[in-house]
Amino acid sequence: MKARKLLMIPGPIEFEPEVMQAMGVPTPSHVAPNFIESFGNSLELMKKVWQCPSGQAFIIAGSGTLAMDLAGSNLIESGDNALVISTGYFGERYAELLKRYGANVDILRAPVGDIVPIDEVEAKLKTKDYKLLTFTHVDTSTAVLNDPKPFGELGRKYNVLTILDGVCSVAGEEIRQEEWGIDVVLTASQKAIGVPPGLALLVASQKAMEVWKNRKTPVCNYYADWGNWLPIMDAYEARKPSYFGTPAVNLIIALEVSLKIILKEGMDIRFQRHQRIASAFRSAIKAMELDMIPVNEKVAANTLSAPCYPEGVEGGSLLQEITKNGVIMAGGLLADIKSKYFRIGHMGSVNQSDILSSIAAIESALLTCGYSIKPGIGLNAAQEILNL
Ligand code: PMP
Repeated sequence: MKARKLLMIPGPIEFEPEVMQAMGVPTPSHVAPNFIESFGNSLELMKKVWQCPSGQAFIIAGSGTLAMDLAGSNLIESGDNALVISTGYFGERYAELLKRYGANVDILRAPVGDIVPIDEVEAKLKTKDYKLLTFTHVDTSTAVLNDPKPFGELGRKYNVLTILDGVCSVAGEEIRQEEWGIDVVLTASQKAIGVPPGLALLVASQKAMEVWKNRKTPVCNYYADWGNWLPIMDAYEARKPSYFGTPAVNLIIALEVSLKIILKEGMDIRFQRHQRIASAFRSAIKAMELDMIPVNEKVAANTLSAPCYPEGVEGGSLLQEITKNGVIMAGGLLADIKSKYFRIGHMGSVNQSDILSSIAAIESALLTCGYSIKPGIGLNAAQEILNL
């Protein structure tokens, strides 16, 4: 019997064997010609995945929080006004982060499981001169999805820089950064990008780069300062050696492999696959009569789902049973409702059998925990969608 369990948490996800092979190559010098080629290719491929041909790509060793920090520290100067749209845990994190750089932060908070209506965002933008607006494409704590397009429109209309936290969305949810006019789209390697944790990735618009270039005060974060990194990204894109801080060499070699896999599948097909798998999964959850954190299908993410534990079933025991059934899922994250729900990641290389195994593991765990459902009811509902 396979000892390995299926990892279905919302990052890190299961990685493709080719990506893991790339992680295992003997580490070259960070200025070796073949590594320079990998780094340069990765920067170019990112702009295709982000759909932002004229953007400035950055690849820097660190986690998704560093990607948030890169946008925050480079674009905020003390006293700037920033608006944070919060749909959960990561919106709150962005507000705290921007305050550290001296921003006056206003937060618009969505009710748990919902989004902030876009007309409320617009009304707030009319009240003062904001320099920057952040929103979370998919908040991993609530599985709530924001539609980025209207944020891009508002950013242009009110001349506000828009920052999309795409840690749980890039390469899984539809993003057309340039067409939609989003100024920064940031992510990390370990989710739908499909590379082990350790890379902060972002693409900034030329407008964002101009705002940064015209700063009056130094960036208050030495490691994150684009002034240190822009020459390095430029050099690698020009296929020239350069150094500021040692790059995460093997992760970048693996990133090139993964970005090629993503683009080979095709962005539109990839988005549709995520939508189909997510919709099958949600259909199974509904058939099992479990509630979900997102209040409706329109605001439900395609990269992860957040079902509630049924009445009378203790969360910890259910997750333990699911693990015994060979699948690893994640508990709740949002402090106030943490013990009420769990989370399943379905992004990146996820396929039909992963999702069916996950549903079967939940069904059987629910039965073991004394929740009465007809065995197979979730699987049937999912298959109806998967077989369409
Ligand atoms: N934003 C979102 C939406 C996330 O899901 C995460 C990670 N779960 C982060 C930011 C922070 O990323 P990291 O844990 O890699 O620092």
